[in-house]
Amino acid sequence: MGLDEYREIIHRCFRCGFCKLTTDYNWRGFNCPEYNKFRLESYSPGGMLWLSYAAFVTGELKPDNHLAEILYSCSMCKNCAQSCKFKFGDMVTEMLRKTREEIVEKHPELVPAVVQKFLKNVYRYGNPYGVNSSEFKSIEKIPGVERYSNQEYLLYLSPISYIEPSAYESAHSLAEVLVKLKISFGIIGPDEICDGNEVLMLGDSALFDYVKEKNLEQFKKMNVKKIITFSPHSYNAMKNYYSMDEIEVFHYTQIIYDFLNKGKIKFNRGLNKRITYHDPCFLGRYNGIYEEPREILRSIPGIDFVEMPRNREKAFCCGGGGGNFYTDMIGPGENAPSRVRVREAEETGAEIIAVACPVCKLMLENGAQGEDSKLEIKDISAILLELL
Ligand code: SF4
Ligand code: SF4
Repeated sequence: MGLDEYREIIHRCFRCGFCKLTTDYNWRGFNCPEYNKFRLESYSPGGMLWLSYAAFVTGELKPDNHLAEILYSCSMCKNCAQSCKFKFGDMVTEMLRKTREEIVEKHPELVPAVVQKFLKNVYRYGNPYGVNSSEFKSIEKIPGVERYSNQEYLLYLSPISYIEPSAYESAHSLAEVLVKLKISFGIIGPDEICDGNEVLMLGDSALFDYVKEKNLEQFKKMNVKKIITFSPHSYNAMKNYYSMDEIEVFHYTQIIYDFLNKGKIKFNRGLNKRITYHDPCFLGRYNGIYEEPREILRSIPGIDFVEMPRNREKAFCCGGGGGNFYTDMIGPGENAPSRVRVREAEETGAEIIAVACPVCKLMLENGAQGEDSKLEIKDISAILLELL
C-alpha cells in the first residue's frame, strides 16, 4: 500500500507549521531537526507532505533527485507527529515514511546513492557497513558471555555493536553489567544480522520483510523466548513490526529498572557528577519509555541529575534516525542536530550526557567533537559498570 491510502487525509495538512515549533514557542530553534538545519519550508514536515501529495498523489509535480534528497533528510524522529494537533497528527511520520516507499518502489533511480549503498549492504552483508561477519569484533571474550543456548534471554546487540568502536564499547559494558547482575543470557555473535528498523524507515519494506523473516527464522531455530535489545532501533522493529506473539522483547533499561525496583542493584560507590539524559526517539516518542532510564540514573548515589529544556516527548533528536547516522543526509555544520543537542546539554552545566542508544552515542560524540566540547557521552550501562 502506497501513499495513496492517505489520499483523504494528507491534503488536510494546511502547512500551519505548528509541528516544527517547540511547544513553549520560546526555544531559539525548532523541533524538527531537518527544518532547523535547512530553514526552508520544503524541508519542514508540512512542506514535505505537500510536495509528496503533489508528486505522488495528484501527479502535479514530477519527482526528481532533489525531492528525494529532501525526503531522505528527515530523521524520522516523530517530533512532528507529537506536535501536530490535528486528528491525523500521529500519522505524520508514517505518511513521511510512505513517501520513501513511493520512491523505492516506483522511482528507484531517485534513491540517493548513499541510501542505495545502505540498503545493498544490508541485503548482501546483513549490516549497513558492508562488513563481513568474519571481521566482527568479539564480545564473547568477556568472562561469562556465551553464545545463546536456551538461557533466559537472548541479548540482541545489533551489528553496529560488532563494527563501530563506540557502540562496541557500550555493548561490551552492557554485557559485563548483565554478567554482574547474574542475568542468564546469551548472544548470537557474528551470525547476527540487522534488525531492519532503518531499512523500514528508509522505505524499503520488501527488504525489511526479508530481514525480519531471517531474524525470526533464527530466533525460532534457537528457541528464543525473551530478547533484550541493546539498541532502541532494534527494540522498535521487533516490538512493533515483527509480530512475535511467543517472544517477549525488552530494551535493556527496562530489565535494569526491574532489577532496581526489586532491590537487586547494589552500588559499590557513587558518582559526584552532574548528568543529563538524552531521550532516543525510538525509545521515547516511538515506545513511551521515558522514566526507566531516568530512574536508573537518579538511583546512583551522589549524582546531580538535570534535564535539558527539551526532554521526554519534546526531546530534540540527535539526527541519527532514519539511517542518518550512516547516510548523513542532514549533513554537518553548526546546525547539525547533534551539535544543537550538545549545546543544549552544555547549557545545563552537565559533565556527562547519558544515552541509552548506540546511534545517539555516535551522533552526540560527533556533535561534541564539532563543538569542541568537553562533555562526555556515556551509555547508561557504561556508567553503571564503573559503580557496581
Ligand atoms: S502536519 Fe499538522 S502541524 Fe504540521 S503543518 Fe500539517 S497540519 Fe500543521
Ligand atoms: S520526523 Fe523529525 S525530522 Fe522528520 S519531519 Fe518530523 S520532526 Fe522533522
